[in-house]
Amino acid sequence: MDKELYKGVFVFAEQREGVIQNVAFELIGKARELADSIGEKVTAILCGYKMGEMPKELIAAGADVVLVVDDEKLEHYLTEPYAQAVTHIIQECKPEIVLLGATTIGRDLGPRLSSRLRTGLTADCTSLEIGEDRNLMMTRPAFGGNLMATIVSKAHRPQMSTVRPGVMRRRVADNSRQGTVENVTVPFDTSKFRVRLVKKVHEEKNMVDITEAHILVSGGRGVGSQDGFSKLTDLAGQIHAEVSSSRAMVDAGLIGHERQVGQTGKTVRPDIYMAIGISGAIQHLAGMEESDFIIAINKDKFAPIFQVADLGVVGDLHKIVPILTAKLRAS
Ligand code: FAD
Repeated sequence: MDKELYKGVFVFAEQREGVIQNVAFELIGKARELADSIGEKVTAILCGYKMGEMPKELIAAGADVVLVVDDEKLEHYLTEPYAQAVTHIIQECKPEIVLLGATTIGRDLGPRLSSRLRTGLTADCTSLEIGEDRNLMMTRPAFGGNLMATIVSKAHRPQMSTVRPGVMRRRVADNSRQGTVENVTVPFDTSKFRVRLVKKVHEEKNMVDITEAHILVSGGRGVGSQDGFSKLTDLAGQIHAEVSSSRAMVDAGLIGHERQVGQTGKTVRPDIYMAIGISGAIQHLAGMEESDFIIAINKDKFAPIFQVADLGVVGDLHKIVPILTAKLRAS
């Protein structure tokens, strides 16, 4: 394979129902950094139907080029039409790097692309850096999160990875940025379309998304019970925070999985993360250690959470949390 033929950093810009997903902006932020370090362009691949202002948003976020496949067949995500569209673009443009979000869509699409393009895919990355010979160093948790493995694809191009939402930082949008928008026509082979969308049912959403919260009050096994959790809810109410948790509390049935932080939960990056009665297992840290300011309350002064905390309080949470809540209420 002539690696020299492959140029540029491409991002699959995931959109759902006309809304570009946060992860796409985060990936464009990272792609910009990677592309600048090797003197390349950032290209966003945008698939859908009636895309409106979306290409402009991608340029403002850092893309130089937006390749748009605007086709009724792509109105809703279906594996085969999307795989055909993105494979076609990659075969035509020969990018050096392709990034996708590790979302349900990215996790479905990524392996199809890698198999059709006969290249590798490193799934669920948490860090990406350019290494020697312009090889992409793709780092992801391995062995149940006990090790971080860095994977390098020396022989194949493009180098592809899916990246967990919330891990990379999006850039501040710059609406004055200039870029190119190109429409791409894909020669779809509809005889391979085996799935038809019959009906769409919207999930009722009454829970907040903890990845969007600015402050998280997160409880672990030390919180102990529903009564303990209500102390956290009181505290959260005083500081406009959302409540999240470690897996121990989800496994105990005290809180829903949608509020779990960590390797098998969500990756969060709030301004303030309060870890209350959480030991700081590596699988938990994987989901929150990038938070801007971490406050830990734990009765064990040797708890690993204190190694990542900016402020640590050693003591009994059942005493400290109500005092803190009362002080905040009075202030
Ligand atoms: P513990 O480790 O039991 O810690 C409880 C802490 O509370 C202790 O440090 C204790 O000192 C403190 N404490 C107790 N009482 C008090 C008190 N009165 N006042 C103050 N402090 C007190 N975990 C996650 O969180 N998220 C994940 O996504 C996740 N994914 C995983 C994936 C895999 C493949 C595996 C193997 C594990 C995963 N885990 C995950 C589980 C993880 O290994 C830990 O078991 C879990 O994070 C522990 O939760 P915890 O800190 O709440 O409980």
